[in-house]
Amino acid sequence: MKHLHSGKVRDLYETPEGLLLMVASDRISAYDYVLEPGIPDKGAILTQLSLWWFEQLADVVPDHIAGPGPDARSMLCRPLRMVPVECVARGYLAGGGLGEYRRDGKVSGVPLPEGLEDGSRLPEPIFTPSTKAPVGEHDEPISYEQVVEQVGEETAEELRRITLAVYTRGAEIARERGIILADTKIELGWDSDGVLTLGDEVLTPDSSRFWPADGWTPGRAQPSFDKQFVRDWLMSPESGWDKSSGNPPPPLPDKVVEQTRQRYLEAYERITGRSFNG
Ligand code: ATP
Ligand code: MG
Repeated sequence: MKHLHSGKVRDLYETPEGLLLMVASDRISAYDYVLEPGIPDKGAILTQLSLWWFEQLADVVPDHIAGPGPDARSMLCRPLRMVPVECVARGYLAGGGLGEYRRDGKVSGVPLPEGLEDGSRLPEPIFTPSTKAPVGEHDEPISYEQVVEQVGEETAEELRRITLAVYTRGAEIARERGIILADTKIELGWDSDGVLTLGDEVLTPDSSRFWPADGWTPGRAQPSFDKQFVRDWLMSPESGWDKSSGNPPPPLPDKVVEQTRQRYLEAYERITGRSFNG
């Protein structure tokens, strides 16, 4: 197979039949660094969770899945021509969206009411697109109008509709399982018939914020099933890492690796109702 691309987390190959093999590794990234060591089973957990979600979303949007891969970490996909926009939906305020709101009362150009805090629920889910930055650069929030300039009104409209529909379906299903889907990022592309199709991974802890619903308290950072745990450890005195030094982070202690693995596992098992067995 021909190696096409390696991102921070995934490796992409082309099969002799012209399909893509997307392999999710156990690598974990934070603050744009790939951390050492990997999180055992993370790749398989994320791939299996994505496959489960693609099925749940089958009547919302067509997807790129062409079949299972040779192992639990991989999936076989139809190649898409990717839309150069990261499609983000937010139902709650956190992360980069919170920063933007505090600066100018808007997120990706969408004005929001005053008085919202860290973790607040938004009046309704909003589409907050960002650029797809080249490797090593940060994705920048862009307004809906900028998306229209890039891809035209008809496609922009479709991107917004599909992104909000995926978020709404995902949030409904997660909520039944006691989990808040705070936000999520999807990637869409055109298939060989020109049909806008859901690509990449979907509704995983790497692409979404999942919060246990019973711990939700706006006004502070929310406990979560994503890698916030790793970020918190890196920023704690215990890690001894100074982010502003420009030095790479220290290796994760076994305890942090194991607890992070538990969080990914719990997200998978709670959402799908299945037990994970590699
Ligand atoms: P990083 O995640 O490290 O910032 P990245 O996004 O380039 O970099 P990955 O997420 O590991 O790396 O790689 C997945 C790549 O494959 C992305 O560029 C994504 O847009 C692309 N992709 C996903 N699905 C498809 C598809 N069906 N056809 C073509 N490209 C796809
Ligand atoms: Mg990516």
